[in-house]
Amino acid sequence: MRYETIIGFETHVELKTESKLFCDCPVRYEAPPNSEVCPVCTGQPGALPVLNRRAVEFSIKAGLALNCRVNPNARFARKNYFYPDLPKGYQISQYERPFCENGHLEILGDDGQPYPVGIKRIHLEEDAGKLVHSADAYEAADYSLVDYNRACVPLLEIVTDHTQNPLRSLNEARRYLEKLRQMLQYIEISDCVIEKGQFRCDVNISIRPEGGADYGNRSEIKNMASFRYMMDALDYEVKRQRRLLASGKWPVQETRLFDEKKKITLPMRSKEDAPDYRYFPDPDLTEIHIDEAFVARVRDTMPELPDQKLDRIIQYGIPRADALILTRDRAVSGFFEECALHCSEHRKIANWIIKDLFRLLNEHALSISACPFLPRDFADLINYVVQDKITDAIARTVLEEMFQTGEAPRTIIGRKGIKLIRDPGELEKICSEVIEEQAEAASRVRDGSTEPVNFLIGQVMKKTRGGANPKKIREILQRRLMT
Ligand code: ZN
Ligand code: MN
Repeated sequence: MRYETIIGFETHVELKTESKLFCDCPVRYEAPPNSEVCPVCTGQPGALPVLNRRAVEFSIKAGLALNCRVNPNARFARKNYFYPDLPKGYQISQYERPFCENGHLEILGDDGQPYPVGIKRIHLEEDAGKLVHSADAYEAADYSLVDYNRACVPLLEIVTDHTQNPLRSLNEARRYLEKLRQMLQYIEISDCVIEKGQFRCDVNISIRPEGGADYGNRSEIKNMASFRYMMDALDYEVKRQRRLLASGKWPVQETRLFDEKKKITLPMRSKEDAPDYRYFPDPDLTEIHIDEAFVARVRDTMPELPDQKLDRIIQYGIPRADALILTRDRAVSGFFEECALHCSEHRKIANWIIKDLFRLLNEHALSISACPFLPRDFADLINYVVQDKITDAIARTVLEEMFQTGEAPRTIIGRKGIKLIRDPGELEKICSEVIEEQAEAASRVRDGSTEPVNFLIGQVMKKTRGGANPKKIREILQRRLMT
């Protein structure tokens, strides 16, 4: 019998609001432990939550970007469980009426066709604090400390729908996560920095006979904090379950732990179901009415989304593969478009960004928003190349210097004494000079020797201080001496 894989995600995203979800403590990642806390977010008796309006706007914004239905009457619920990072003994979350439901996110399916992955729900909840163990390995730790700065930071949970176009392979899973992260960054509700815990995933995997309607027992792997680990864990888990089925056994429903060193998953506990949490509506928070006007206001703040941006970049004449790279990060596509205002060779701009600018940014571990020079100056540099005023090689050294100093290319070219070739006639003139000065080499070329050609090109380059294109020089010399 053939089996198929079904993969589901519960993605937790920390929203970039200024203050926490139910109190006015600031959200600051670098703050000293337990410095951004108050009676509300440490769950002290009598403290009452007050909902952060901005967090609700962000949730609706995510819902609209993911084609969801917005619930006109949403509610918060208490999810009861005990853990030291959860001071109240319950998490304020949403259960029966989340902010958004029944959406989809379109990715490229494994068959090369657009594939709208079902989104079951998007709900808003509070994050828990952070446990810091006294040793790297949890088992080796003598004690743990808890930092409540993160407690009550707004957390958006996005859940895929395993009954509506579920993810069917590791590749689709990866494309879903990348697209989701890109989308949330585009709409500016989260930075989604994985290393900072701003984008965390629980992933569940089940296997069923191909074309079957039933879903096998799911195993869930919690809190995967890197894409690579997630893919390793998924890969292992899919193989493990297939092996089990092949030997005639059914996988059990359970939560498993990924061992990052051994790259295997291990059983942790049997998975809890919703009844275990004793959800009930939070009596401290009333029902939230979200009217059309509110949704319309949020819709007005919606920027261009990744797919629209991609279409538009392609219209600049950029090949799709390059356009995909340029739109991965909205700031990069912004940089490109700014350049395109000043330079009409759009493909050249794209090439220079993807090859040379990315290399420099990588070397200095900078994001494009920290790029030391202006898009306008970058476009000017490319204009020099396009108009054959300087060579690619020279442009590259100028670019390095722009990166160091943030200066305009004109300034750097002036300081280095690079002689710009202003028009083709000028280059012809310099070539004539060199032919005159190097009469012997020139006559050898006239007599059919090709060997001195490079020498003559070198002489012309010297006179222009590298400012001319060697290919152009060769053309001129060949025309003058070899025909
Ligand atoms: Zn607080
Ligand atoms: Mn959750």
